[in-house]
Amino acid sequence: MKKEEVIKLVETLKDTYKDAKCSLDFTTPFELLVAVILSAQCTDERVNKTTPTIFAKCATPKQFADIDIKELEELLHPCGFYKNKAKNIKATAKIIHEKYNDEVPQTMEELMKLPGVGRKTANVVMLEAFDNPQGIAVDTHCKRIANKIGLSKESEPEKIEMDLLKIIPKEYYKDVNHIFIWHGRNTCIARNPKCEQCSVKKYCKENAKNE
Ligand code: SF4
Repeated sequence: MKKEEVIKLVETLKDTYKDAKCSLDFTTPFELLVAVILSAQCTDERVNKTTPTIFAKCATPKQFADIDIKELEELLHPCGFYKNKAKNIKATAKIIHEKYNDEVPQTMEELMKLPGVGRKTANVVMLEAFDNPQGIAVDTHCKRIANKIGLSKESEPEKIEMDLLKIIPKEYYKDVNHIFIWHGRNTCIARNPKCEQCSVKKYCKENAKNE
């Protein structure tokens, strides 16, 4: 797809989902980082239901670093994969407390060195906490849409992101991070895509195959 066409596609999705935004609740960059780690293999809705209880008990990186691991596992339990998530969040909190004076670092490189933080999580934190988008967080929705529309043939999130970054101008990174997720949740639904009512069907390779 040519760059001009990609821009039209993005503009159309922006018009379709005018209210698209991050759906995780947070009040500080650290809370967001914890919420994004918890959101792996879990819905944002469940994370939002769980984090108020967690943050009432543990608010600062030091409190996360100091809490008993079993107690933390119990708090995180509703979000699934709780043992691994508790281990990573505790280790990340310790580093943020000791190395960064309780402030979440503001570069992709530093973020991605934290336990449990990959490119996707780092991208979300850079965008939502620091309003400084560095790329596109490729989650399950973004992956599906990029493949179906024909923006990438890759299956690995990092390769998909690299394909997207080649054709999407930087000023659209913020929008794309939101609108692909909303399109995936509302229209290009995994099991039952609503192609008839899709605002970008004319750009979609999958739709062209089915017509
Ligand atoms: S036309 Fe269908 S498959 Fe293509 S992006 Fe729209 S909903 Fe998804």
